[in-house]
Amino acid sequence: MTAKPAAPASRRVCRRYNVDGSPCVNMTPRLDGWCGKCAGFTQPQPTVGVTGTRWFKASLNGQAWTPVSAPLDLDEAHNVAVTFAARKLFAARHSCSMDEAEVQIRSLLEDLLISGQIDQSEDGWYRLMFKKEGYLLLLSPDRAAVKMYQTKHVERTWAQVKEGVKSRVSMPKTAGHNLTKWIRGVLGSQDAPLHITQRALYTYATAYAETRLQRDNAKVILSQMERQIEQEIAPKIVHPLAEGVVSFVVDTQGWTWALVLDKGESMPVVLYLTCRNMAD
Ligand SMILES: [Zn+2]
Repeated sequence: MTAKPAAPASRRVCRRYNVDGSPCVNMTPRLDGWCGKCAGFTQPQPTVGVTGTRWFKASLNGQAWTPVSAPLDLDEAHNVAVTFAARKLFAARHSCSMDEAEVQIRSLLEDLLISGQIDQSEDGWYRLMFKKEGYLLLLSPDRAAVKMYQTKHVERTWAQVKEGVKSRVSMPKTAGHNLTKWIRGVLGSQDAPLHITQRALYTYATAYAETRLQRDNAKVILSQMERQIEQEIAPKIVHPLAEGVVSFVVDTQGWTWALVLDKGESMPVVLYLTCRNMAD
């Protein structure tokens, strides 16, 4: 993994990362460590394959959730404790400090109290969630403590989603291009030893063919990319790849190829290419 950049203690440099994994260098006074201007990713690369979706379902272990009104007023929210376990869950998922986790959980709690869906279990626990957006807090029956944090997101925080930061994991959206049928068609025909995402193909076109990916050149560029994968990239992969962990291969021209093996898949995916050396 890439080490976090060391910031001088007297200055508050944004602790987050841009979409390409480069560290943000904006200044920020915010306690959550984010400047609010960059993409705000909490780690250089996504760790895929981890989500806690069962908490969002209509029942849990056979117990139904019943809709209730907000268990707290907004001005009571700051009296609620955020347990070590909840902070730990948040910090582990979003690679942040325990303090930053608490700040963000409190902010999420306030937003959930205002506009979240709130349910209660038969034994009194409160579930506050943004179901569609995929964020959830579990509040103790005595309403004294946030006991758990869950999200359907691989890496993005509620604050990022609220600000409109797009996922880096669902790649077609990440590249900011519409997933058009013809690209899907072209990518559907690939037969290299690695899968290639739309984003990776786009970058490859710019980097190697020095052109924009278009309907009439996509097949040619894809074959060129597949050839390079077969001859250079695939042999450089150190097997076995750990599931869900992004690894990097640097090619002879200095481009870094980001690869991941998704859970249950046999073939790694080329997520994206970057001109940055992710290894240093
Ligand atoms: Zn920033």
